[in-house]
Amino acid sequence: MSQSSTILPPAKVAVIGLGNMGQPMAACISRAGYQVVGFDLSADARAKFAAAGGKAASSVADAVSDAAVVITLLPDGKIVRAAIEGMKAHLARGTVVIDMSSSAPVGTKALGEELIAAGIAFIDAPVSGGVKRAIDGTLAIMAGGDGKTLDKATPVLQAMGKSVFHAGPLGAGHAAKALNNYVSAAGLAAAAEAVAIAERFGIDPNTLVDVFNASTGRNNSTENKLKQFIISQKFNSGFSLALMAKDIRTADDLAHQLGVPAPLADEVAAQWDAALEMLGSSADHTEIGRYSTAKR
Ligand code: NAD
Repeated sequence: MSQSSTILPPAKVAVIGLGNMGQPMAACISRAGYQVVGFDLSADARAKFAAAGGKAASSVADAVSDAAVVITLLPDGKIVRAAIEGMKAHLARGTVVIDMSSSAPVGTKALGEELIAAGIAFIDAPVSGGVKRAIDGTLAIMAGGDGKTLDKATPVLQAMGKSVFHAGPLGAGHAAKALNNYVSAAGLAAAAEAVAIAERFGIDPNTLVDVFNASTGRNNSTENKLKQFIISQKFNSGFSLALMAKDIRTADDLAHQLGVPAPLADEVAAQWDAALEMLGSSADHTEIGRYSTAKR
């Protein structure tokens, strides 16, 4: 990696999308010494960012002008494409655009190829770890695209996450992310179902979780979600059910696009879609526990 080409502080970094993830991730980049300017379509999100000490721009053009790196943290790939179309004319020469949202990989590959053909460097670099690890700057980051572009942007990514994986070509980060969330969501749904069954049998749910966590049924959800958000009925993890359902659907669509049979992914995607239909778009993803116990 050539030192001269890496993007180091105090370069300007624009963060587009200041929601549950964008806001704490922008704060991490700022703490690393970069000049961070944020933008969100929501005036509330901009005000919250400014109240926490961030610099919020009033237009996407102001946010991205002269930025060495532009990061998108938006709900999905279609919204990312529209946002990038809207900012393209304002990007400085040499800007690296990084989509850190959980977007669909096939769309990302097409978008990335178009941008690169127009002279704009682009990689996908979605994240895993949730709001807690976004605040701590310890996210897992999985990148797709050209290795030289990734090397250039690595110091910025390392401000947000301690492990940065090069998953493969354009879209590979988004594919790895969707597959990760499919596995995570399947584990969460299975654990929530098991709690409902155990309770009906007369087992204390907290005892069942302790059993899982000392046994082979242990997974990230049994350790970090069941007691914390589901059994406590707090349902406030900061990751929406709508976004999780989108990620599982993305993984399942990818299986179909590639012709790989994935009957379990078909089932898990259908179940999370049904939970979204029942609980609505404002539900937290841990409310899958309410879906598991609902009479159907
Ligand atoms: P969020 O809904 O909290 O934030 C998204 C923000 O984007 C909102 O503030 C919205 O106003 C803004 N926005 C929408 N369209 C815009 C546009 N065109 N221009 C500027 N701003 C726009 O979502 P989040 O939880 O922060 O997630 C962001 C991305 O990160 C998603 O793709 C999600 O799947 C992914 N992700 C989330 C988590 C999590 O735990 N929340 C974890 C890993 C990955």
